[in-house]
Amino acid sequence: ASIFANVEMAPRDPILGLTEAFKDDTRAEKVNLGVGVYQDDNGKIPLLECVKAAEKARVEAGLPRGYQPIEGAAAYNAAVQNLLFGDDAELVKSGRVITFETLGGTGALKVGGDYLRRLYPEAKLYISDPSWENHRAVFENAGFTVETYAYYDPATRGANFPAMKAALEALPAHSVVVLHACCHNPTGADISESQWGEVVEACRKNDLIPFLDIAYQGFADGPEQDTAAVRMFADSGMQFLVASSFSKNFSLYGERVGALSIVTENKEEAARVLSQVKRVIRTNYSNPPTHGGAVVTAVLNSPELRKQWEGELAAMRQRILDMRHSLVDKLKAAGVEQDFSFITEQRGMFSYTGLTPEHVERMRDEFGIYAVKSGRICLAALNSRNVDYVAKAIATVVS
Ligand code: PMP
Repeated sequence: ASIFANVEMAPRDPILGLTEAFKDDTRAEKVNLGVGVYQDDNGKIPLLECVKAAEKARVEAGLPRGYQPIEGAAAYNAAVQNLLFGDDAELVKSGRVITFETLGGTGALKVGGDYLRRLYPEAKLYISDPSWENHRAVFENAGFTVETYAYYDPATRGANFPAMKAALEALPAHSVVVLHACCHNPTGADISESQWGEVVEACRKNDLIPFLDIAYQGFADGPEQDTAAVRMFADSGMQFLVASSFSKNFSLYGERVGALSIVTENKEEAARVLSQVKRVIRTNYSNPPTHGGAVVTAVLNSPELRKQWEGELAAMRQRILDMRHSLVDKLKAAGVEQDFSFITEQRGMFSYTGLTPEHVERMRDEFGIYAVKSGRICLAALNSRNVDYVAKAIATVVS
């Protein structure tokens, strides 16, 4: 018999599975609101002009393709630190932060998870309720028992901050807490800056291990503004981890460009932690790929390309915001009585719309519109040609 004869079929990834079903749908007017990818008004994933320019220069330079260091390129890691903590951040200058170039934000979460699991084998890990589907899977795969802390309030379509705070305050010391630094996925509901201050305080009081995930830096208010939570943790003097990603804000999804940054107590401690995390990486994928990180570094370190990037990022951010307003206006115009204005309050690519699994099923069956069963939709998949159709479909299924 085949050595694979007894292998069972694994369940489809809930979101990628949706894309497969979407591809098989033959209706011309179909819309995929399931995936978390930014598309322009033509429904295309953009190749940013700043990226195009940096890639052209890189190809023309005709560089050899040697191995990178285990932790990735020093220039890339420095650029990531500046973007996360600010150009003259004290904790960077004092050598307390170490950064690793990783395979996207997912790679950063996995490397950080593997390391923390070795360091605190008794600790449990907590994600928000709800959270990005892959959070649970990645951290369980790292060996953690994954539980949730209260976060979303379906009644207000926002965060239930008192419940979140109470949950964090009840966690035992050295619990790992995964926090969405901005643009919460899947709900789109963020907490305020003063509430972040209380989160920092709860983490400090309880000796928690904060693991910040920032996958949408620049999609809420701007690349600098969106680091508010990261910088509050930095100012607190605590130790913490940050997983960051350039998948969305550079539209470099398939290049797998991310970073894990670890804030330690001092330079000497940083060197010890660095040596251990390098072992985690070396025994996993050895060292990261070159191209995507080199392109991002070139853009961030060139004043002109960086300005161009900030402009292109602002345009993506603004287009999503326009689509949020457009959808809400069109729902109102279609005579929907329910107030959907919360969609314009939520940030990032997603909205928890409150659509039920039955609504979602009808949208798919009757209109060829694909959304996640939880009612999560990706606003970045809406455009001037399909927003009327989507609004009409929602209006039909909710009335
Ligand atoms: N964290 C969150 C919350 C995300 O939504 C995503 C992307 N969907 C990631 C991490 C990982 O992003 P990447 O594609 O860079 O691995």
